[in-house]
Amino acid sequence: MVPFSEPYQNVPVVDSNMTHKIKRTYRYRLYPSEAQKAELARTFGCSRWVYNWALETKTKAYYQDEESLSFTDLSSRLTSKKKEEETEWLSEVSAVTLQQSLRNLNQAFTNFFEGRAEYPSFKSKKGDQTARYVGTAFDIREENGKRKLRLSKMPGLIRVRWSRELPSEPSSCTVTKNAAGQYHVCFVCTEEAHLLPRVNGEDGDLEFVGVDLGIESLVTLSTGEKVGNPRWFENEYDRLRREQQKLSRKEKGSNNWERQRKRVAKIHQRIQDRRKDFIEKLTTRLVENFDVIVVEDLSVKSMQQNGSLARHIGQAGWSQIVRRLRDKCEWYGRTLVIADKWFPSSQRCSECGHIGGKKPLDVRDWTCNECGEDHDRDINAAKNLSRVGQTRIQAPGDLGKPDAFEVVGSGR
Ligand SMILES: [Zn+2]
Repeated sequence: MVPFSEPYQNVPVVDSNMTHKIKRTYRYRLYPSEAQKAELARTFGCSRWVYNWALETKTKAYYQDEESLSFTDLSSRLTSKKKEEETEWLSEVSAVTLQQSLRNLNQAFTNFFEGRAEYPSFKSKKGDQTARYVGTAFDIREENGKRKLRLSKMPGLIRVRWSRELPSEPSSCTVTKNAAGQYHVCFVCTEEAHLLPRVNGEDGDLEFVGVDLGIESLVTLSTGEKVGNPRWFENEYDRLRREQQKLSRKEKGSNNWERQRKRVAKIHQRIQDRRKDFIEKLTTRLVENFDVIVVEDLSVKSMQQNGSLARHIGQAGWSQIVRRLRDKCEWYGRTLVIADKWFPSSQRCSECGHIGGKKPLDVRDWTCNECGEDHDRDINAAKNLSRVGQTRIQAPGDLGKPDAFEVVGSGR
């Protein structure tokens, strides 16, 4: 086999012990009363205002005065804002949530500077509304034998549907309201992660899998398996489009319009929930059955410009898959390798290593000029990705060497 000589990304290895502590979020449905809804609306509004104000202040300071405002600078400016007459309504809501807005913005800037995200953008009223509580600004209390959520400055306790147990005392919580008008709370808990044993035992061969993220099927594995047909999502999207057209024909602001708007938002939510469920199951199956998982750098995919619906649907799923694989590899002690964006996974013959040149996206099958092997485009790409892992990590002892590829988590 021709050795792979292309460059790979390089990030530090996560130190793995037999057990380690991880942070995980737990999400539940919330049922606030009318009074609580009003108070939440005010808190969401203030949190959003602070975020947007801080973003504007920071951007202006940078471009006009070449001054870089830190979290502390913004925090003290916020304190004086609360004393100004026009903005004294800011002190009516929990101070913690406003501080957390600043922290969220800080994090958005860190993500931007480290190349993980675009420049932060203003939050709009139309998107999900959120407020984050930490420390003593929230806790879980019992009322009439039921456990409920207490939030600072909130009248009474909020009803929670406890769909599963919390593993430990949460360190923070984020309350959201989506476009469908549903409320949720996300608790962040610290818990002990269970590292999985090697698939073939301590002395057995490592199991590798290459994961090609695509359009025809959301995921193709180097084992030849194809999972996740985006057509399934397309049916849902067709329905969404029909309901959206109905919405556009209704008089904006009328009762019928409001009802239809909620219907549209609910379909949106259902698509998201089903995709999330599918991705959770897929990524869990991958970490349970393989020691090393290899995916392609997603920036390759975004470079292949094409505005089709299928691609749009695919893209949302791909980044979610990679994000979940990152998390789960770290939690369960598996190795995730991300092949560099210049790696020609779809041009290279996985049998002989011959590079046959660029192939348009509509070429689904091809035959290698060199060895005559017939290839399915996606399976070939997935096999190449698996090879990246195999050439880099040949012995179990090699796991977690950070020399030439991105490794998240490391097998024992
Ligand atoms: Zn070949």
